[in-house]
Amino acid sequence: MAQVESVGGPVDVASLGTTLMHEHVFVLSEEIRQNYGADWDEETRVADAAAKLNTLRQRGCDTIVDPTVIGLGRDIGRIKRVAARTDLNIIVATGLYTYDDVPFYFRYRGAQSHSAATDPMTALFVGDLTDGIADTGVKAAFLKCAIEEKGLTPGVERVLRAVGAAHVATGAPVTVHTHPGSRSGLEAMRVLTEEGADLSRVVMGHSGDTADLDYLTTLADAGCLLGMDRFGLDILLPFEQRVDTVAELARRGYAEKMVLSHDASCYIDWFQPDVIGTFAPAWHYEHLFDDVLPALRDRGVTDPQIETMLVTNPRRYFSNPNPPAPPDAP
Ligand SMILES: [Zn+2]
Repeated sequence: MAQVESVGGPVDVASLGTTLMHEHVFVLSEEIRQNYGADWDEETRVADAAAKLNTLRQRGCDTIVDPTVIGLGRDIGRIKRVAARTDLNIIVATGLYTYDDVPFYFRYRGAQSHSAATDPMTALFVGDLTDGIADTGVKAAFLKCAIEEKGLTPGVERVLRAVGAAHVATGAPVTVHTHPGSRSGLEAMRVLTEEGADLSRVVMGHSGDTADLDYLTTLADAGCLLGMDRFGLDILLPFEQRVDTVAELARRGYAEKMVLSHDASCYIDWFQPDVIGTFAPAWHYEHLFDDVLPALRDRGVTDPQIETMLVTNPRRYFSNPNPPAPPDAP
């Protein structure tokens, strides 16, 4: 039986169950928090996260997939403390989140690499996937990168190629933060294909931010999974258009090409805490169960199609058809 790494250790892919494919536990500007985080209380925030995840578990979610990587305040020690208080599976990522430049750490290191395979960034990603993250004992199970409205800047291209190379080396699947308004998923698809990626194991994240069926079916027909993963961010695309788009794609036979999620967090420091309830009141983990699934059923999406999007597609995504060969015995 294929297994996937989670914060609590390896899990059979068959037991992942209902899986939200893009949710964060924490999104933090970690260097700001360390210097100016007078209002941050570690114990309060860990307890709050565990409570929110336990509530989500009671709603019928078994697994969340958390693409919080470098650039979003990844701290797996903190996630371990949350995971110890819930039996929801948490799957964590490696990779790098930038819309333009690489962090200064990488600006000179590896800048002369002639291929992504020799980029030191790739080696760090592979290490997170195969040896574990820092000293936590937790292994990442997928890769994350981003291509936003600025498109394929040199820094973004370097990260995409390193993620593609680490995917080819390990078989770990990929999630790309895309900006559908500029059709940036197409550029990500081109670069990852050049690196040899298996597009059936790539989620084009935030595809649900558009109702452009031509763009979405182009990505899906090429093999990609569509991340319909920002339910609740109605400020970017209204709720009705989000559910109408998923329902229409399901009607056209694309349920096997979609995954569902919110891109929500237990706590995100990008906004004043009280502001989120004003601009995105439905942007929380339970919106799918409260509002989205009933609306999809109203529009003719069947329970088997919902199971395909929430259970079968995530299971297939994490089933590695080409696991790296174990090292030769000495
Ligand atoms: Zn996200």
